[in-house]
Amino acid sequence: MAQYKKIKVPSEGEKIGFKDGKLVVPDHPIIPFFPGDGTGPDIWRATKLVLEGAVERAYEGKKKIVWMEVFAGLTALKNYDKDTVLPKETLDAFKEFRVGIKGPLTTPAGQFKFVCLDCAAEMNDRPALCPKCKSEWITPRFRSVNVGIRQALDLYACVRPVRWFQGVPCPVKHPEKFNIVIFRENTEDIYAGIEFEYGTKDCQEVYDFLTKKMGKKIPFADSGIGIKPISKTGSQRLVRMAIRYAIDHKKPSVTLVHKGNIQKFTEGAFRDWGYEVAKREFRDQIVTEAELWDNLGGKMPAGKVLVKDRIADQTFQQLLLRPDEYSVLATPNLNGDYLSDAAVAQVGGLGIGPGANIGDGVAVFEATHGTAPKYTNKDMVNPGSLILSGVMMLEHLGWQKAADMVVSALERTIQAKTVTYDFERQMEGAKKLKCSEFGAAIVANMGGRALAAAR
Ligand code: NAP
Repeated sequence: MAQYKKIKVPSEGEKIGFKDGKLVVPDHPIIPFFPGDGTGPDIWRATKLVLEGAVERAYEGKKKIVWMEVFAGLTALKNYDKDTVLPKETLDAFKEFRVGIKGPLTTPAGQFKFVCLDCAAEMNDRPALCPKCKSEWITPRFRSVNVGIRQALDLYACVRPVRWFQGVPCPVKHPEKFNIVIFRENTEDIYAGIEFEYGTKDCQEVYDFLTKKMGKKIPFADSGIGIKPISKTGSQRLVRMAIRYAIDHKKPSVTLVHKGNIQKFTEGAFRDWGYEVAKREFRDQIVTEAELWDNLGGKMPAGKVLVKDRIADQTFQQLLLRPDEYSVLATPNLNGDYLSDAAVAQVGGLGIGPGANIGDGVAVFEATHGTAPKYTNKDMVNPGSLILSGVMMLEHLGWQKAADMVVSALERTIQAKTVTYDFERQMEGAKKLKCSEFGAAIVANMGGRALAAAR
């Protein structure tokens, strides 16, 4: 076991193992977690209550999660030193214990030099206290901790199941038709993008290389330049995971989403490499769309997964107009970023969209929204996103009974119109609950015997 300085490894519980490409989950797995910044602690408390309630009820005390707190963002600054937002031992713990869960973290954007991790205020000097919220936790601008975790642990798939829960207010007429799992590449494309700022020597050199040496045309000389790498390795492992998921979960299709009509050697290559891995590794389990029409007269053989592709922009239309024709999407990084937020908006918004970052043998589950800093410590926001990420985590552990119990209880709670502010403002006759009350209501709606955790 790695040596940890600030992380306290619990004396009870066991590490999750990994054998023949599969997790080996003990009855008392140690799960690293951090609540996150801003509203993270509020949604984490509610999530913990709900997950513990479901596990205890589903397995009558035989199984139990043993939580192990690790640090990132504000809690890292408080526990390590004032400039460490992502300690190495946090990454070590996620790697060693294999399955973790996290709340949202502040990610500074823009050109300012410092950020307050309590309220996300941005400033160019480092005052002793934040001028906005008086917090002392001000840190120099840093690259996204979330991206840092994904890259350091090579969590190459960002997985987001998007479905509607009955009663959730949403902008479309038939949200029940939406049940799609998005696999978005998580390590390359713009996440590994290289940019050159207009006016710099480097940018001029790249410009000269492209225009003079390579003979390429750039419409205006006063351009910033970006390069996005998309690899065969990165594309194929992502598409492989998506197809395996579709086969394991008996999903009818996998759609490769790309912009290959314009960018042939990155986006178009993603599509081609995707079909290649599908045919090479899953030949008996898949049919491509071309084969369906050329060889099978449009009649899909039972039990097989259809592998098709769509251009990214028309996929947005398709998800609005004919969502029931799609079940699993595999996308490069940027397309998947846009698509997954748009998709979750269709079924009720970020407050209820779960997510996971998954690699080979390591996974970190997370709320997909940010820290919602204006609601910090107000016990107000919807914990649904983190709770449903916890459901994904339970499924990943193979604890399906507990996962199903959370989903049913969440549905009952929403159908009873007992919801947090974000849903209440859109639902006629609803009762507004605090974040913690919503968590407790879900536990109460699980039925079964009363729990210490829920009292
Ligand atoms: P945000 O935190 O997602 O919040 C934007 C708005 O979305 C909120 O004001 C709220 O809308 C709604 N919202 C978010 N979470 C909600 C919840 N749990 N329940 C109900 N409504 C919720 O986005 P942001 O304000 O752009 O970003 C704030 C910070 O979070 C930034 O530092 C950003 O970089 C970071 N961030 C982190 C992650 C991550 O850790 N994975 C992801 C995205 C952003 P109303 O105002 O309408 O109530």
